[in-house]
Amino acid sequence: MSEFFEISNRIEELSEKALDRASQQLEKIDKITEYNQQKVLAAFIKNRVDETDFNTSTGYGYSDKGREKLDCLLADIFKADSAIIRAGALASGTHTLGVCLFGILRPGDIMLCVSGTPYDTIHSVIGLDGKNKGDGTLADFGVIYNQIDLTKDEKFDLDAIENGAKNPNVRMVYIQRSRGYELRHSISVDEIGEVCERVHRVNKRAIVMVDNCYGVFTETKEPTEVGADLVAGSLIKNMGGGIAPSGGYVAGREDLVRLIGYRLTTPGLGTELGATLGQNRNIFMGIFNAPHIVGEALKTAIFAASLFDLIGFNVTPKFDETRHDIIEAICLENEDNLIAFCQGLQKGAPVDSYVVPEPWDMPGYDSKVIMSAGAFTGGSSIELSADAPLREPFAVWMQGSLNFHSGKLGIMLAAEEMYKRGLIK
Ligand SMILES: *Cc1c(COP(=O)(O)O)cnc(C)c1O
Repeated sequence: MSEFFEISNRIEELSEKALDRASQQLEKIDKITEYNQQKVLAAFIKNRVDETDFNTSTGYGYSDKGREKLDCLLADIFKADSAIIRAGALASGTHTLGVCLFGILRPGDIMLCVSGTPYDTIHSVIGLDGKNKGDGTLADFGVIYNQIDLTKDEKFDLDAIENGAKNPNVRMVYIQRSRGYELRHSISVDEIGEVCERVHRVNKRAIVMVDNCYGVFTETKEPTEVGADLVAGSLIKNMGGGIAPSGGYVAGREDLVRLIGYRLTTPGLGTELGATLGQNRNIFMGIFNAPHIVGEALKTAIFAASLFDLIGFNVTPKFDETRHDIIEAICLENEDNLIAFCQGLQKGAPVDSYVVPEPWDMPGYDSKVIMSAGAFTGGSSIELSADAPLREPFAVWMQGSLNFHSGKLGIMLAAEEMYKRGLIK
């Protein structure tokens, strides 16, 4: 019973049951967290991180020791040759992925996406279906996009991938590890390993790049440990640990990371410059916290899956399924439920708790969307947040939480709101 929040006996009861039956899964998450926390701490110690690394630079930012060390630290965590991690200079996950694609792909090259349609914001980078034609998309520069969908049981179509990768013009095979905002399952690192093996066997020029958003630290291995040539992601998701105020990262093969550095600044300059404007400490601290925060987000998702399954809704993944990203999708069947869920969740946010989210016509969507977010960092989705387009299958996608206790409470308040409105029994 909470002394501070009004929660009915019914929701308290269900929550206890939900937590109880998920206890084994929560323990499993602790084991993953512990492994990854040690991996990260060992990299800090190996790189001799010290207080002077938190110093700042201005202007060109030449010889910013902290920035250089952050790149080395990140490379070690991913067991990669080389890495780039930047707040601000990489503005978001989409920007980071875009810098990678433009850094590597050349006119006539084929980008072969093998996990189905990529995340929405990448469509205009590629110029998919003529999107943003003339704005300088990959398509405008003569890069060709091909796609292989996942099979009906949501696995890689390995034979089609191997066949497709034989084309010598395929320069990049692209994989999105997370489900993003689809109902498909996330993809395991081992499955990514199989694709790498097949692709590298038939095409020496092809590299495998993984969109690592929402995936990092959900398993004890990263894609770069099973043959992926490149991973990239956002710092306001898993890798920033809820502390980095903005940014993105890339890790992988040295020659590829160098090309990406040339695209980030210019050929000739690469990663030799870039003032850090006081952000080094936040990024070090965010990386250090990331394994733990990802664990808390995973536990929150498991609790949500267990509770809403008990209430009677379809959830994916189920509470006892293995996870490869931090996202939980709950099919709430109708608009009223989606609205009550998001408004209830918002009531438990540490920031903007008094705001009542309403559905709105979001650019790029063909239906209204309702969102809940009450975060310390604008747009951060490693903090507890949810999005729901008001259309079939009436699903809410939720993710994050800086700690399990507040995440669990947020989920309970979402259920409570539905209960109070008589939408659930
Ligand atoms: C969030 C996300 C992106 C884009 O990141 P932004 O920081 O929102 O631009 C790309 N791919 C996946 C799978 C994501 O989850």
